Amino acid sequence: MAIRRLFVANRGEIAVRIIRAAHTLGIEAVQAYSEADADMLAVRLADHAVCVGPPQAAKSYLNAPRLISAARDSGCDAIHPGYGFLSESAAFVEAVEAAGLTFVGPSATTIRCMGDKVAARIAATKVGVPVVPGSEGRIETAEAAGAAAETVGYPVLIKAAAGGGGRGIRVACNEDELRALAPQARAEAQAAFGDGGLYLERSLNSPRHIEVQILGDGQRAVHCYERECSLQRRRQKLWEEAPAACLDQAARERICRSAVALAESVAYRGAGTLEYLYDETTGEFFFIEMNTRIQVEHPVTEMVTGIDLVASMIRVAGGESLSLSQEDVVLSGHAIEVRINAEDPANDFMPFPGVIEKLEIPSADNVRFDTMLYEGYVVPPFYDSLLGKLIVHGNDRVEALGILAGALDNLRISGVKTTIPLHRTLAADAAVRTGNFHTQFLESWLETRTLIADQEV
Ligand code: ADP
Ligand code: ADP
Ligand code: MG
Repeated sequence: MAIRRLFVANRGEIAVRIIRAAHTLGIEAVQAYSEADADMLAVRLADHAVCVGPPQAAKSYLNAPRLISAARDSGCDAIHPGYGFLSESAAFVEAVEAAGLTFVGPSATTIRCMGDKVAARIAATKVGVPVVPGSEGRIETAEAAGAAAETVGYPVLIKAAAGGGGRGIRVACNEDELRALAPQARAEAQAAFGDGGLYLERSLNSPRHIEVQILGDGQRAVHCYERECSLQRRRQKLWEEAPAACLDQAARERICRSAVALAESVAYRGAGTLEYLYDETTGEFFFIEMNTRIQVEHPVTEMVTGIDLVASMIRVAGGESLSLSQEDVVLSGHAIEVRINAEDPANDFMPFPGVIEKLEIPSADNVRFDTMLYEGYVVPPFYDSLLGKLIVHGNDRVEALGILAGALDNLRISGVKTTIPLHRTLAADAAVRTGNFHTQFLESWLETRTLIADQEV
């Protein structure tokens, strides 16, 4: 049954993005907001908005019963979870469906299988997709951890089965470190995800992060090619590109085909991403996890394929089958996205909430700014620091880098510190310009660089 009224159970830039996609499909949007978010842009753009509780996410954006009754009471027939919050909660999907509403995303069964990283490794192995050597299943005791690490080989990563956003990960170089760090990782995972389950993986040396965008309708899946997201700090992406310039056509086909096989094996419905680490020296890739939701960096894929991923996931959730065949997905040019966070990159990325005094947004055909900002908006201190994403598209990577540098010069935000100076410096960096980087590049780079100053508005 086609969706007529969509409840947006998220905030910030992704809520704005979902409302825009709903409107292009002729669907009304009802926006959830916490008491701290009454003035956010999505509330202004939606057809209707409902307060779902106090500022603390646990009492508002993570409050499933409250969200579901708000959706029903406002006449919605579906809920879009965005990313983070409840987007990867199988229990939430079940509650949404039990209330007679449609969840815009995969089934609870698919999320149980792919949202848990240990279960996802097993699913990948079943269809012959390589995973990073690691423990067979969850690690429950210090003894089991020690034994698994001996087999896998140090250094190992201790990872949270329910992890996300770079949290709950620790590196152990020997058994003493393993014994000391595993309890910390367990406590962090329990606090962040409500699940202290851990597993181990060999820590790869300087891999690239490559991920494949998937669209599925529960029967069939297509890939929308890959992104490279190797520029990370604390395992969080800051700069993303599509396609991955380091892959040749054969490697690209291999990794994308493996992602389709894995997505189809779990009857994937909606938009999802399979993340891999890629060892450039050997040409090997290893599946690490699936994000069973729309991702922050989806716009770079939209720019190089012309596909509206958010509209596509809403249509599939409404019961349409996928209209695309694999041949319809054609790559054109190169896109780069940089995350603009309210953080001071010159001061250890300290969060910087505050009032947006002035805002100038670059405008051109090949430049897109997905944002929650307007002049006078007060960035609240309660949530993550993403203010927006600057996305550019060029005929090739060099052209995209040039457009990015120009767009960064013309993006001016005053009142709060942002990551714009970091991105201006990166865009001018020789290694970044030649694509010569990996997932461990940015942190050491940051130690030795002085950032280009912010532009005065
Ligand atoms: P992406 O995978 O889309 O690049 P991130 O890893 O940056 O996104 O996560 C997007 C947002 O979702 C961040 O605010 C992050 O903290 C949050 N997030 C991601 N995974 C989880 C999770 N499993 N539980 C809670 N929050 C999560
Ligand atoms: P999250 O759910 O927090 O996104 P991931 O498993 O996707 O966690 O890993 C996040 C990042 O951590 C990766 O993009 C990569 O930079 C690094 N990483 C993860 N696993 C490994 C590994 N086995 N070896 C080296 N780096 C890794
Ligand atoms: Mg990840």
